[in-house]
Amino acid sequence: MRRETIRKTSPPCVQPNLDDYEKVRASFSWAKARTALLGLPGGRGLNIAYEAVDRHATSDRAGAVALRCVGRDDSLTCVTYEELARTTARFANVLRTLGIGHGDRVVTLLSRCPELYTVVLGTLKNTSVLCPLFSAFGPDPVAQRLTLSDAQVLVTTADLYRRKVAAQRESLAALRHVLIVGDGADALPGTVSLAALMAEASDRFTIPPTSPHDMALLHFTSGTTGTPKGAVHVHEAAVAHYVTALYALDLHEGDVFWCTADPGWVTGMSYGIVAPLMHGVTVVVDEGDYDARRWYRILAEQRVSVWYTAPTALRMLMRTTPRSGPYDLPRSFDLGALRFIASVGEPLNPEAVVWGKDVLGLPVHDNWWQTETGAIMIANFAACEIRPGSMGRPLPGVEAAVLQRGEDGRAMTTEGRVTVLEEPGVEGELALRVGWPSMFRGYLHDEARTAAAFAEDWYLTGDLVRRDAEGWHWFVGRADDVIKSAGHLIGPFEVGCALMEHPAVAEAGVIGRPDPVAGNTVKAFVTLRPGFDAGMQTRQELLAFARRRLGPAVAPREIAFEQHLPHTRSGKVMRRLLRARELGLPEGDISTLEKDLSFRDPPEASA
Ligand code: AMP
Repeated sequence: MRRETIRKTSPPCVQPNLDDYEKVRASFSWAKARTALLGLPGGRGLNIAYEAVDRHATSDRAGAVALRCVGRDDSLTCVTYEELARTTARFANVLRTLGIGHGDRVVTLLSRCPELYTVVLGTLKNTSVLCPLFSAFGPDPVAQRLTLSDAQVLVTTADLYRRKVAAQRESLAALRHVLIVGDGADALPGTVSLAALMAEASDRFTIPPTSPHDMALLHFTSGTTGTPKGAVHVHEAAVAHYVTALYALDLHEGDVFWCTADPGWVTGMSYGIVAPLMHGVTVVVDEGDYDARRWYRILAEQRVSVWYTAPTALRMLMRTTPRSGPYDLPRSFDLGALRFIASVGEPLNPEAVVWGKDVLGLPVHDNWWQTETGAIMIANFAACEIRPGSMGRPLPGVEAAVLQRGEDGRAMTTEGRVTVLEEPGVEGELALRVGWPSMFRGYLHDEARTAAAFAEDWYLTGDLVRRDAEGWHWFVGRADDVIKSAGHLIGPFEVGCALMEHPAVAEAGVIGRPDPVAGNTVKAFVTLRPGFDAGMQTRQELLAFARRRLGPAVAPREIAFEQHLPHTRSGKVMRRLLRARELGLPEGDISTLEKDLSFRDPPEASA
């Protein structure tokens, strides 16, 4: 646990929204926070899209730019709040015309194009449920999530549809409509052009009554075993989106905000769309991929004032612009509008916090949350000291605890009761007291896994942390063995299943291997079926196969052949042991190891 701290030397140009942490925390209540939201006119409930769009469209912000979308080709599309209100109304009418209503699922498989934002917010207006998928997923994760979500509508492009959906369309019984963004619908049977439907639709739409407890968003996240889990979020989450953007991202009127996360993941949805629009600021959207020069240019040209990014991206920037200098690349751009930088998704190296201060003139504020929490829960705040390497302190309204762990590594429950560790510096599982508005309401169709995520009135996060004497939280690791790679949560089981579809593979054990830039990369240990050669050609074939099936964000980077994977007595591959052996770590408790099948030799060096 580092003791180094960063105190803000130059006063911020604007007064931070959270100026006195203890005072705000002591007087905070979610009920009071809820009064910052308008609610639907006539007391008809609470709808995220109304708070994010329509309330501004009928205010003096109507003409302000809501979205500034930078295309891959650097083209710029600006959308005002008033225009966004109209296009989202059109899309809501499109859904209504198609017979899609309250609670029906609309899935997006799109790049960060302007239409994505229309579809997301229009779906919420219609009180249908939006489920975003990452466009870099391969056909397997896409089909699995379309099935698990009971998707009735898919909005995608002709190219993505052809490459990732068309071959599996027949197995997707619930999927009634495929709407194509851009050209190409004519040549694709079973699809319709979105533009054609939008042209016919009215740009007036009255949002139907919406209960704060109505399902609004469905985000898939990965577990250690089993299929991906669909975390259900409701309209009431908007209260937490608003408050956390106010306190943890310090959004002020007039800000230009850029969240680099893709809306296919929860960060890109909560903070790339909902929270900043609720604050009525201008949201910068970049359709392009990471490129150091491009990113510095966007920060400068778009006059970004608040920037929310990820540790992997910062580490990539640090490689092009080391702290030792010279800072030629960032200095060739005017980053003078930048006021606040925050990061999320993986552990942020203390070095990156200090790098921000040296190279960009601002420290990076790490914060912590996850798909299930829906919004930022723990953060370093603008007005408070930063302890580099720490994720910070809980938001007002959020109560965090460190729970004692049992033998399985997870929080120990004795007759349903947990033990809260009060002593500073002790490692345990991070838990959050139930009751914040953006808490997921369960995993879709999976009561058992939902129940396992709670004990007493605590939500168990699956993360291991320590808390220091002053309340700063320090990330230690995961209590399970899901893999965080470049900010994406990857289920080792999902990767293993895809590999086992290849005729050469008898079994696979998948682990995360530490990587200086991506945090972890995915490595698979594969047992080959008889008759297959453990050579370079098979390895390349399997790497390419996994990439095609899973997509580049999820597929393994390395494959090693291992004819004797370690198993538990119940027959599961012992990933924990594979990882320990791979990294030369202590093997820990191996009493459940199935002796006959354990491998004795170190794993073969991989490609
Ligand atoms: P996801 O649900 O995909 O957003 O992933 C959430 C997980 O990412 C958390 O449970 C953590 O394991 C990790 N994570 C998120 N933010 C941080 C952070 N600031 N420091 C360390 N790990 C983080």
